[in-house]
Amino acid sequence: MLRALIVAPAWIGDTVMAQPLFMRLLEKTPSLQLDALAPRWVAPALQRMPEIAQMEKKAVNRPVSDLSPNEDPAIERLPKPDRVKTALGTAYMGITCSNCGSDKVIRAGACGVCTQCGTSQGCS
Ligand SMILES: [Zn+2]
Repeated sequence: MLRALIVAPAWIGDTVMAQPLFMRLLEKTPSLQLDALAPRWVAPALQRMPEIAQMEKKAVNRPVSDLSPNEDPAIERLPKPDRVKTALGTAYMGITCSNCGSDKVIRAGACGVCTQCGTSQGCS
């Protein structure tokens, strides 16, 4: 038997809109068993979908209000443009783009991506 795990979105609306996808998957592959992993506030919607065989409620996605505040309270007191600049300052990799020479290269998985021209860095 084929099994697939649905990692549900953090929002009820997105979860409800995903149901036609689940129906389509089962229509194409009738032997497929769909299980779901969902935040506790989304799980009741999935539990009522006949397409979902098993449910596990996990706090895989947390609402912004649950996220821990910034570790440095001084950063919280900065005006928004300065907070953005501080966040971006730690995002840049400290290398220059091989295509355009910009130093605005951010980490994207194991590689870097130039925010100016979009060229991938250090993966090929
Ligand atoms: Zn570039």
